[in-house]
Amino acid sequence: MDKIKFATVWLAGCSGCHMSFLDLDEWLIELAEQIEVVYSPVGSDLKVYPDQVDVCLVEGGVANEDNWELIHQVRQRTKILISFGDCAVTANIPAMRNMLDGAEPVLRRAYLELGDKTPQLPHEPGIVPELLDQVLPVHQVVPVDIYMPGCPPPADRIRATLEPLLRGEWPTMAGRDMIKF
Ligand code: SF4
Repeated sequence: MDKIKFATVWLAGCSGCHMSFLDLDEWLIELAEQIEVVYSPVGSDLKVYPDQVDVCLVEGGVANEDNWELIHQVRQRTKILISFGDCAVTANIPAMRNMLDGAEPVLRRAYLELGDKTPQLPHEPGIVPELLDQVLPVHQVVPVDIYMPGCPPPADRIRATLEPLLRGEWPTMAGRDMIKF
C-alpha cells in the first residue's frame, strides 16, 4: 500500500499543538514508516500546499487573509481534515480579540501604542497579512472531518486519532465507517 500523504498546517495558534505532536516521541518513528510528510512547518520547507493529501492536522483559528486562503486550499486538496486543538476547534485564545470592534483596535495597540521605536500601522501590502474582523474556528470556514480538542491535545489523544486512520478506520469517537486511501 502507498504511504499515507500526511500534512500539518499552522494557522493562528501558538505552535503548542505541534509541540504536543512531537511529544509522540518514539511512536513518531513508527508513524514515519507509514506516512509521507508532504507539508508541515516542522517537517518540510514547501511553500505551496500540495494536491491529493490524505490526512491534514490543522492547528489554529482563521485570523487573517493568508489563513483564509490556505484553509480553502487545504480543504480542496485534502481527504481528511482534522481540526487540531482548541484554537482550530473553537478559535480559543486568538478569538479573545473578537470582543473588540474589529481588527483595528488590535493593530492600534500592537503597532502604535506598544511600538516604541517607529510606531506605524502595517500598511505595505504583502508585509503583514490583513486581519479578518473576527477570528473563526476552522469549521466556520470549511467543513471539518474530525475534531481533536485540547490546549494542546495530549500526545496520547493525537495517537488515538491517527492510529485508526493508519489502519483505514475512523477513530471510535468519530463514529464513521471504514475509509480507503
Ligand atoms: Fe496553542 Fe492551545 Fe491554541 Fe494549541 S490550542 S495553538 S496549544 S493555544
